[in-house]
Amino acid sequence: MREKLKGKEYEAKQFLRKFPKEKTVVSFSGGKDSLVALHLAQRVGIKKAVFSDTTIESQDTIDYIKEVSITLGVKIDIAKPKKSFWELLPIFGPPSINHRWCCPTIKYPQLNEYAKKQGVLYYITGLRRNESIIRMNYTKVSKNPMMPHVIQINPIIDWTSEEVWEYIKKHELPIPPSYKKGLSRNGCVVCPYKSPKELNMLKKIEPEIWSKFEEFLIMYANMLGIHNKKEFLEGGWRSWRPPTKRKVVENIEVTENYRIMFNNGFSEKNFNLLGILKTGNQLPFHDFQKKVKILIEKELNCVGCGACLSLCPNDALYLDNDKINVDLSKCAHCYECLNTSKLRGACIGRTYSLETSIINIDKK
Ligand code: SF4
Ligand code: SF4
Repeated sequence: MREKLKGKEYEAKQFLRKFPKEKTVVSFSGGKDSLVALHLAQRVGIKKAVFSDTTIESQDTIDYIKEVSITLGVKIDIAKPKKSFWELLPIFGPPSINHRWCCPTIKYPQLNEYAKKQGVLYYITGLRRNESIIRMNYTKVSKNPMMPHVIQINPIIDWTSEEVWEYIKKHELPIPPSYKKGLSRNGCVVCPYKSPKELNMLKKIEPEIWSKFEEFLIMYANMLGIHNKKEFLEGGWRSWRPPTKRKVVENIEVTENYRIMFNNGFSEKNFNLLGILKTGNQLPFHDFQKKVKILIEKELNCVGCGACLSLCPNDALYLDNDKINVDLSKCAHCYECLNTSKLRGACIGRTYSLETSIINIDKK
């Protein structure tokens, strides 16, 4: 094992040397895999990392980040989301496998924003293929659609879990607190992807976070009049799909010559984001129509989560009293902020908030 590991270490370091140090940062999660990636990076002279704070981190994790920073001599910045998990929870409900608003709002946007501000082009990760079936097809260099401004480089993509632990032992690296407490992996304290067994362990390990979350679940179940409350509270929330209340704004039409007709008391002046479509008449009609719908719905449903701001390469989007707005002098009409593959529905509020709006747009 030691000889094989030596070969893999050498290969990983050679791979990392291909990337410019000044534009490469480690995306450190506080888990064992990204610890190894961080140490390998430090050994080739990349001494900067960023930790994405989910705002439900345990004190142990925060202390551990500091410990790693000192032990490895690496600067670890902490990136924070625009709104905390606890602020977004009442807006979206509990994050679940079928209602996954958490990563797009409180994990990736701040990493994207950090990369833009710091001029980072490459994030080193501790991704490994054999971590899960979904990751089987991951490659050494990859893109995360929710972080369009960076390329992910994954030096230990083909390492096994045993090799990771062997590396940690060999280099006497500080063991992440979650593993010391008996968990098999790192990650969010209330992650719906964790098994019921792991979540039960976490309830004991992080009683404060969990009692706050359970208090919310009870309040939420009462508020929505959830039929099988017991089942919901005991784990049903993990696959919960909330009911959608739809407000319908009718009588908006797009004419063949690309004019938007409002027959409902609204006008184009009510929707600042429509300015993004300045070059609209160069778009195919159906594309234009689709974008009108997205823009109006974004503006109507904005809950100020901040997720779409980081998608704009020109920093043209901003929040004005928690509502999305655009500085048209900066907008290059690239339509990145309307890309539904980068952000589901191109807007978290439009996709996940409990109150969404629908506009009927018909060709005239
Ligand atoms: S427009 Fe949507 S994605 Fe953007 S900040 Fe508002 S709610 Fe979030
Ligand atoms: S169209 Fe492009 S430049 Fe304009 S706000 Fe959207 S992402 Fe930014």
